[in-house]
Amino acid sequence: KSELRAGDVRMQHPLSFMYGRYSMKILFINLPYYGHVVPTIGLVQELIKQGCEVTYLCPLDWKELIAESGAEFREYKNHRQLSEQMKNAYATAESIIEGYDFVIYEQFFFLGKHLAEKYNKPVARIFTAPVTNEKLMKEFITSKGPLSIFKYKWITKAFTKDIVGNIPMKTDNWLDEIIYNPPALNLVYTLREYQPYEEEFPDEQYKFLGPSIYERNDEVFNFVKGKNPVVYISLGTVIKGATSFFQSCIEAFRGENIDVIISVGKKFNARKLKSVPHNIHIYNFVPQLKVLKMTDVFVTHGGMNSVSEALSLGTPMVVIPFVSDQPVNARCVEKIGVGKQLEYSAVNKDNLKKCVLSVLSNNGMKDNIEEVRKLINQAPGNQGGAKMILDYYKQVNFEKNHYLCN
Ligand code: UDP
Repeated sequence: KSELRAGDVRMQHPLSFMYGRYSMKILFINLPYYGHVVPTIGLVQELIKQGCEVTYLCPLDWKELIAESGAEFREYKNHRQLSEQMKNAYATAESIIEGYDFVIYEQFFFLGKHLAEKYNKPVARIFTAPVTNEKLMKEFITSKGPLSIFKYKWITKAFTKDIVGNIPMKTDNWLDEIIYNPPALNLVYTLREYQPYEEEFPDEQYKFLGPSIYERNDEVFNFVKGKNPVVYISLGTVIKGATSFFQSCIEAFRGENIDVIISVGKKFNARKLKSVPHNIHIYNFVPQLKVLKMTDVFVTHGGMNSVSEALSLGTPMVVIPFVSDQPVNARCVEKIGVGKQLEYSAVNKDNLKKCVLSVLSNNGMKDNIEEVRKLINQAPGNQGGAKMILDYYKQVNFEKNHYLCN
């Protein structure tokens, strides 16, 4: 009993796990990628509502976004390279972890489980993309994109070694760590119905929350929908250099009775696009949830967040996947009948227009998407996810107390 310290159970009444609110201090660790941070904000908001204190660890440029969650922000130094980001995140997390009761990390910060175990903290992992097994990981790294370098085993091992140094890991490959070294609690931002190979992920260990829906402090968006249908086009926040694709979009809808909103990305110079007609509206960034609410067809790269947001708001899609999980998401959209997919390299103004118009006039797709919305409404969401974390913490503490008392 003498080993029971404040850090273990936060000096609460020994039976407090039986009562409603149960405060704990959570250290949340994430890497600086928009699609990986955004969905977690709603979960943090719910945890805070439940009485938890959350410290969110990310580089400085993410401070404003994280402030929306109500968490305390802690900075680690950013870097261009993923490996350096991971090292910086690890070092900063390790310097403060003692003051926390619980650790949450996004899957890409693969050291999260090791770090929590080293300091004897309970831990949960978040997936902002589908959970990966060996087959999916192979598919992610063989599609073009930032992960494709890891199709070479020796590069992956050298990359991993550089990050972990002498830290003992279960495997010598960070991607294998994600697959083969899971913590006991994993929260996934999709529906079990849409998780490929879902039978491989047991219910007790993998909790499918559905999309992360929460009120965002989005900036004002002054576009007003008129009588014309709205097509919204976005390739997310990571893909760059799609000038000819955006130009094809412009040509596809030039002179049509359709309003087209294109989000070209924060770093894209919109002046590269030539002779933009009145019905095409170019933005560097839009409040996507607001835009989707008025959208009739969403042309998307198939990022997990974009697909989830469209499904939860009932917007049919044309998916043009590029890399990592996007081809998997595109297949899923087509399979469940809520959109169509096009191959990026084959896109031209004619097939894009044809595809968008066929989705626009397809009432069956609208019925299918309504069915999906019903499932999403029943899914646990962020509120359920926060409860699962608290329940897990109570269970771990209960077992620990029980052990100490006996
Ligand atoms: N997003 C946005 N406005 C934009 C473009 C994107 O709010 O103009 C948001 C979108 O709502 C989604 C995220 O950025 O939450 C993109 O995540 P996703 O997983 O779809 O793609 P990624 O950017 O990670 O490739």
